[in-house]
Amino acid sequence: MTDNATDMPTNTLNNWENGRWIGQTLEVENGVCAVPSKIAPDNLEYTDEVKAATDHLYDEVSDFIPKFEWPAYAPLVHAINKLKKEKNAVILAHNYMTPDIFSLIGDYTGDSLGLAIEATKTDADIIVQGGVHFMAETSKILCPDKKILIPSLRAGCSLASSITGEDVKLIKQRYPGIPIVTYVNTSADVKAESDICCTSSNAVAVVEHICAERGVSQVIMLPDEFLAKNVARQTDIEVIAWHGRCEVHARFSAQDIRDMRAANPGVTVLAHPECPPEVVEESDFTGSTKAMSDYVENHKPKNVILLTECSMSDNVAMANPDVDFVRPCNLCPHMKRITLENIYTCLRDEKFEVKVSKRMAKKALRAVQDMIDLPPPGEKGHFDPKAKDVFVKVI
Ligand code: SF4
Repeated sequence: MTDNATDMPTNTLNNWENGRWIGQTLEVENGVCAVPSKIAPDNLEYTDEVKAATDHLYDEVSDFIPKFEWPAYAPLVHAINKLKKEKNAVILAHNYMTPDIFSLIGDYTGDSLGLAIEATKTDADIIVQGGVHFMAETSKILCPDKKILIPSLRAGCSLASSITGEDVKLIKQRYPGIPIVTYVNTSADVKAESDICCTSSNAVAVVEHICAERGVSQVIMLPDEFLAKNVARQTDIEVIAWHGRCEVHARFSAQDIRDMRAANPGVTVLAHPECPPEVVEESDFTGSTKAMSDYVENHKPKNVILLTECSMSDNVAMANPDVDFVRPCNLCPHMKRITLENIYTCLRDEKFEVKVSKRMAKKALRAVQDMIDLPPPGEKGHFDPKAKDVFVKVI
C-alpha cells in the first residue's frame, strides 16, 4: 500500500499487509519475566564494571528476578543504559512491559497515550518504543522529526489488526454523517480516516463531545466491541460498534470473578474497559491502566485483583508493597515480544524504524490532537458497574 502524495510505503514493516497484522502469536515461556538467553548478544558478560554499575538496581526487581539469574540481566541493562547515553535515546515503557524493562531501562512509563505525549516533550534524537506497533506509530505521528524504533517487528495487537483504513472508508459510505471515534489502539491509516481518537480513560467524554459538536445522537466506535458496549452503558448517545476485541481482556469472564471472590474473600476487583460488560458489572471498579494504578495508590486495598495484562500487576505491585496482589492475569503475546535482548539490538543497530507517510501522519494527527486538546475526563473516566444494559449494534 502506498501513499500517492509521497509514493512511500505507508507501512514498511514486514509483518503488516494492507494494514492488517499478519504476524504469528508468540509462545511465551516461563511466565512473566522471560530470562534472557544464555548467549547474550555480543557475548555481554557480568564483569566487575557491570556489577558495580548495576547491582544497586537489583532490589527494584528482586520480587521478579531470582538472584542467581541477575548476572544474565545485568550486562544487558548496563549495555542498554550506555547506548541510551551515547545515542541520546530514551525508552518508553508501557505498563505491560516486564519489570526488568519497566523499572530498569524505561525512561518514561505509563499507558500508550501518556507515553506518546511524553515523547513530544523529550529532546532525545531516538525513541525506542517498549510496546506494540500502533504505539510506535502514534509516537511517530506526534513526533515526526524523531527516529522511532520498535525492537520487534512482530509486536502487533489483535485490536489494531481487526480493522484497516479501507474498512473505515466503507463504514463512512454506509453510515454518512455519523462521527467515527477511534480507539488509539489502531494503525495510523485507521486514525487518519477517523473524526477523533479516544483512549480507555476518555472514551465516554470524547463520544459526548463529538456528538454535541456535530449535533447528533449516534456515534460509531472503532474497533473494540467491548469498550464500545461499556461506553454505551455510561451515556445516552447511541453507540454502533465494530467487532474487534483485545485477545487479552476478552478472555476474562463474570464466572472467573465469582470464583476469584470465593477463593479470596474481601478482594477488590479492578477491570479494564476492554473486558466484556458482564465482567465490568461484576467488578468493583473499571478504568484505564492509569485509573487502575491510581485506584490502588489512593485506596490501598488489602488485596486486589487487576483484570488486565500480567505485567501490570507486577509493575503496580512494585510501587505498592503493602498491597497483596492476586494475579489471575492473561499475558499479551505481542507485548511479550519486547525483551531486553531485542531492545539492546534495536538500539545498537537502530532498527526497526517505524515510518508513517507525511500525508497520513497529518490526517491522523488531527484525530489524535483533537482528543488531546479536550479537558481531562474527570469522573467520566470511570465506568459505573451498575449502569443499565443497552443494545449495541455490532457491524
Ligand atoms: S493487551 Fe490487547 S489491546 Fe493491548 S496490545 Fe495486547 S492485544 Fe492489543
